[in-house]
Amino acid sequence: MTDRPAQLAAERIVLQLRAAGHEAYFAGGCVRDILLGVPPKDFDVATSAHPDAVLALFPRTFAVGAHFGVVLVCDDVDGQEFVTEVATYRSDVAYLDGRHPTEVRFSSSAQEDVLRRDFTINGMMFDPVLHRQTCNLTSAVLDYVGGKNDLRDGIISAIGEPHRRFEEDKLRMLRAVRFAARFDFTIEAETERAIRQLASGIAQVSRERIRDELTRMLTEGHARRAFELLDRTGLLKEVLPEITKLRGVAQPPEYHPEGDVWIHTLLLLEKLPAGASPTLAWGALLHDVGKPATFSHKPPDRIRFNGHVEVGVRIAHEILRRLRFSNEDCAQILALVENHMRFGDIEKMKESTLKRFFRLPHFDEHLELHRIDSLSSHGDLSLWEFAKRRREELPDEVVRPPLLVTGRDLITAGYTPGPRFKEMLAMAEDAQLEGRIHSREEGLEMIRREFSG
Ligand code: ATP
Ligand code: MG
Repeated sequence: MTDRPAQLAAERIVLQLRAAGHEAYFAGGCVRDILLGVPPKDFDVATSAHPDAVLALFPRTFAVGAHFGVVLVCDDVDGQEFVTEVATYRSDVAYLDGRHPTEVRFSSSAQEDVLRRDFTINGMMFDPVLHRQTCNLTSAVLDYVGGKNDLRDGIISAIGEPHRRFEEDKLRMLRAVRFAARFDFTIEAETERAIRQLASGIAQVSRERIRDELTRMLTEGHARRAFELLDRTGLLKEVLPEITKLRGVAQPPEYHPEGDVWIHTLLLLEKLPAGASPTLAWGALLHDVGKPATFSHKPPDRIRFNGHVEVGVRIAHEILRRLRFSNEDCAQILALVENHMRFGDIEKMKESTLKRFFRLPHFDEHLELHRIDSLSSHGDLSLWEFAKRRREELPDEVVRPPLLVTGRDLITAGYTPGPRFKEMLAMAEDAQLEGRIHSREEGLEMIRREFSG
């Protein structure tokens, strides 16, 4: 375990809390990650100190979730600021809405604090001071729930009685899938059975939280496994019923030797790396969502999906609205769905059409979606290579040059704004993008010629 400034900041907080007579440990996800040898995203501290005592002990604090006993402590290490979450030991008493504890009871027992956590691998504490003294990782771990063994064996196991724990907080069902996918672990049998039984209760979780969990699953580098597990546990049918419909939708084997639309989509998900852009990831998930509704097969003709892009955009829009995506993300994801078939025509595109195609915001995501779409079916990357080469060849100022003929120029030349005016501007721009005009004068002359009647 290498020392990182964030870790040193958290360790200093542990030392100060202990010097003031309290218990304090690293807790939760960071302990799991330390044992796995992966760098933790953040270091959380759990303590017996009451939030008021934490607030009094450190000069720079934010009482973000004082009700839940969470205080943020700011500290500088090597001139860099770190914010450590310090949470008072607690037991969550009653859950009524399937998501939030209605009552939190602070506790002086680390064991009690661990028992309210979700999974055994997330339920360990770590003593950084003892670790410094002994240099022994495992002996510095406080493990009341068998987390070490489950981590060794690759098992996601609810702490306590799974059915009751998922009934308390339905979000834990998605977390189980996310962690199982992320670490390539199996979900323990009783834990999985409880998820299957309670899957429909996921509707009690806010749609934003569901969206965020799904986005994390899609962008942590194990999206295929996550979606297979969502499907197996019955959660997929609850959160994205449109995606379960992809299964069994046959495709023409000459273009799609891999199999049905579900298999094809899983193959795309498999190619999303850790850190993939969320919009690209959702675009990959949704790009063919219009296929089930547009499937047609009249032998001897091949299977067709006429209009699947338009239908797909409509269905994707409903999904994204339901999951409360921002307008900006929604626009980009829909653009990915809407344009994914256009690469098929790219070699025959007029120069002006090609340049306009390249102007799509975040064109790199369109290109990447096409690449993984191709690799997940016929495997032919020639159109991707063509698109990539042309995009690289064309400098931005050639793709989007300053207009030779503007609306103002047309007005000066005596034209009045209206539908024809728009056509004139588009024609002038096309001609410019295709290199047929090189100056405003040439443009105006062309317009006079073409629109003379
Ligand atoms: P990540 O690496 O994704 O951040 P994490 O384990 O740190 O994983 P967090 O969501 O940051 O997960 O939560 C920190 C800790 O809080 C968890 O390890 C777990 O002990 C506890 N926890 C988080 N969410 C829940 C929940 N819904 N129910 C019970 N315990 C939870
Ligand atoms: Mg965390």
